[in-house]
Amino acid sequence: MDVNQVYETYLKDLIDKGAHSRSVRIAMDRAIHSYRTLSANALRRFPKTIEKAKKVREIKEKSIANWEKLVEQARESFERNHAKTYFARTAKEANEIIGKIVGSGKTVVKGKSLTSEETHLRQYLQKLENEVYETDLGEFIIQLLDSRPMHLLAPAVNIPREQVAELLKKYIGEKVDPSNVSEEVAAVRRFLREKFTTADVGISGANVIAAETGTMVIIENEGNIRLATGLPDVHIALVGIEKVVETLEEAMMVAEVTWRYADYEMPGYVNLISGPSLTGDIEKVLTYGAHGPKELHVVFIDNGRSEMANDPSFRQALYCLRCGACLYECPVYAVTAGYYGHQYIGGIGTVWDAFTTAHDLAEVSPHAYTCVLCKRCKTRCPVDIDTADMMVALREKLVNQNLVPPTIQQFFEGMQEHEDE
Ligand code: SF4
Repeated sequence: MDVNQVYETYLKDLIDKGAHSRSVRIAMDRAIHSYRTLSANALRRFPKTIEKAKKVREIKEKSIANWEKLVEQARESFERNHAKTYFARTAKEANEIIGKIVGSGKTVVKGKSLTSEETHLRQYLQKLENEVYETDLGEFIIQLLDSRPMHLLAPAVNIPREQVAELLKKYIGEKVDPSNVSEEVAAVRRFLREKFTTADVGISGANVIAAETGTMVIIENEGNIRLATGLPDVHIALVGIEKVVETLEEAMMVAEVTWRYADYEMPGYVNLISGPSLTGDIEKVLTYGAHGPKELHVVFIDNGRSEMANDPSFRQALYCLRCGACLYECPVYAVTAGYYGHQYIGGIGTVWDAFTTAHDLAEVSPHAYTCVLCKRCKTRCPVDIDTADMMVALREKLVNQNLVPPTIQQFFEGMQEHEDE
């Protein structure tokens, strides 16, 4: 891949669609203001969260160091609970495994999952001639726009309400008051309700997995995860290997810290799923497939994560809870939204992309040089991830591979000449 070409395209998007966009500015101002107020309230009301976050860092360090053993243990536990488990080394393998379970001609409802964005799962299943609906409201908007998420937790953070109203009219034929967010939410609710009840398959990610019990914890507010993982006959979860911790107690602590730093005092729902639905109500005969799904499939995916775990310069990226707090603190993200990002978003996203989605490092080179190394993200991060440090390590790799963006290269050459004079 030509680094010059990647740089030109990226810079154009970053400036034209991001920094120069009035709608991005309006939406980001609203979102950052709202995040700061809500997260301050959440931490004020639950001050012990800060101590718990330190413990979560220790849990993540221990878990990533033992990821192979923990994934094996999690698989055994899920299988004991009557779920089926799989291990995918790459994005392609993960999609193929899920594609085989889903088949074609099916209706699929999806909960928000950055991991499935990483593998382009929706697009893969659509190519197999399935109808696939994102059911998280932000993701649904992103699907209508045929775009990609612009924040780890709030995928449509850059889309103001006025633009949402236009999209709903165009794609689902719902005319709503553009100043009224409640009307917009109600319109999407009406549209997706029928999809939930007729879907054959529900797909989710997971925030954290407890290996000892074989339990996934999924945090949500909208109730779409409950419906997507509870109504269809088949539930498939796609989970990164970095999500596994040892005990349920540890998993709940990781979940609690995640939602607090994601600005929730308490989320609407915390789902714990360990297997397919079952009943023993007739003569105590255990029967799988009661009211919920008859089948649960858990797909663990590596896709570059084990390489990250083995690299001391980048291992800490795997501790990321995807709470999104750092993005609201990033001065570049504040004016460009997710245009600062290749597939994942912002500084931490750039490190993730380097290992998981980029076909070669040239694809993330401009993003690595977008970071201003201010370290404001570190002050916000519950698990003290030093993204700026990783960005410097990534730049070292890029320099060694001659993949520095041309303008940056010229800038440094100019400085060098100036110093030599
Ligand atoms: S790097 Fe830290 S603040 Fe940013 S999303 Fe990950 S855990 Fe949250």
